[in-house]
Amino acid sequence: MDVKNDIRAEKAKTIKKEVYRNFPMVPRVVFGRDSFDQLGDILMTKRAHSDAPFIFLVDDVFEGENLVERIPLIFNDQIIFVSADEEPKTTQVDALVKQIQNTFTELPSGIVGIGGGTLLDLAKAVAIMLTNKGGSASYQGWDLVHKAALYHVGIPTISGTGAEVSRTTVLLGPKKKLGINSDFTTFDQVILDPNLTKGVSKEQWFYTGMDCYIHCIESLNGTYLNAFSQSYGEKALALCNEVFMGDLVEEESRDKLMMASWHGGMSIAYSQVGVAHALSYGLGYLLGVKHGIGNCLVFQHLEEFYGEGVALFNKMRQKHQIELPKAICKNLTEDDFDTMVCVAMKMEPLWENALGKNWRETITPEKLKSIYRKI
Ligand code: NAD
Ligand code: ZN
Repeated sequence: MDVKNDIRAEKAKTIKKEVYRNFPMVPRVVFGRDSFDQLGDILMTKRAHSDAPFIFLVDDVFEGENLVERIPLIFNDQIIFVSADEEPKTTQVDALVKQIQNTFTELPSGIVGIGGGTLLDLAKAVAIMLTNKGGSASYQGWDLVHKAALYHVGIPTISGTGAEVSRTTVLLGPKKKLGINSDFTTFDQVILDPNLTKGVSKEQWFYTGMDCYIHCIESLNGTYLNAFSQSYGEKALALCNEVFMGDLVEEESRDKLMMASWHGGMSIAYSQVGVAHALSYGLGYLLGVKHGIGNCLVFQHLEEFYGEGVALFNKMRQKHQIELPKAICKNLTEDDFDTMVCVAMKMEPLWENALGKNWRETITPEKLKSIYRKI
């Protein structure tokens, strides 16, 4: 009898025990100025055979630029230029997959994404959808992918999103803007070459860089924070401080922002983003406002949630003379506001991270509308 009770007690203990998430990380990464030129050697070992090409998805901002000549094409490799004017859509991913399947009889050796968060996310999604059945919209959510993706490589050309390290690819689908969050989403290889970010405009540098800064603020002030997230978040925040408030020479600034993005992305793996991202998703869904600028538009009005973070954000904005667009929501209807509020309120883990389990006590549709009206 005693033995049985002991076993039960033991079992109860194991049931109560917390189960921790088992995260994938990028298994291989190169860091260094002009490390892009090592891409050919890296891919060589991953070529299935000469009929199985590498497909390079490249931001069309590089069309006709020197970077394209440095892409190590051999056999029947193909470059597909993609515009980053709009954020990735599920229909776009499905069309790219079809295009690749119609062009080649064999499955490619791999997919290489070259660009900002938009191109990195497209590369991740295409790699997943080349080995998984159906349309990409059916995989938007958490852990819905069951087959390993094709080998995929991420090469960022602008720093801040953390898309190069994350296990998600954010897609605009028919019903929602949501990531394909899975263990198979994470890149197999990343090349961090800060020199690739040289051509970015000051405004875009700031918006995408602030995505990283806001990841840090939301992660470090969230209820999900643990020592793992904190260690990455604090490092990323310190690097953002140097980049946006210090007086670094340009080379150093590019190096450091690239590493800030990496650490910021790692920080939100175990925690979550927060209020700015939830509201920015609403703006993105209704108005197509892009992630980086959308976060900035929202974040400037979030003193009540992130007082110190917003104060420093304003200093950074002033130092770099960035004028954010105004009156974005001026001519919207009540229905429009309802749509944005609905999208934002659905981001439950973000609210719970920001404000705890009882977040619904502070976050009401009226509250959110009042913030949107200021934008
Ligand atoms: P982006 O990829 O949308 O690019 C922004 C602009 O910068 C584009 O016009 C692009 O052509 C240009 N650009 C990029 N590199 C350049 C260069 N070297 N020189 C000149 N111009 C250059 O920007 P982003 O802010 O990096 O990415 C935003 C996207 O990332 C959104 O779709 C968002 O949903 C996604 N995102 C994903 C994650 C994730 O974890 N998967 C995280 C955050 C954001
Ligand atoms: Zn972000």
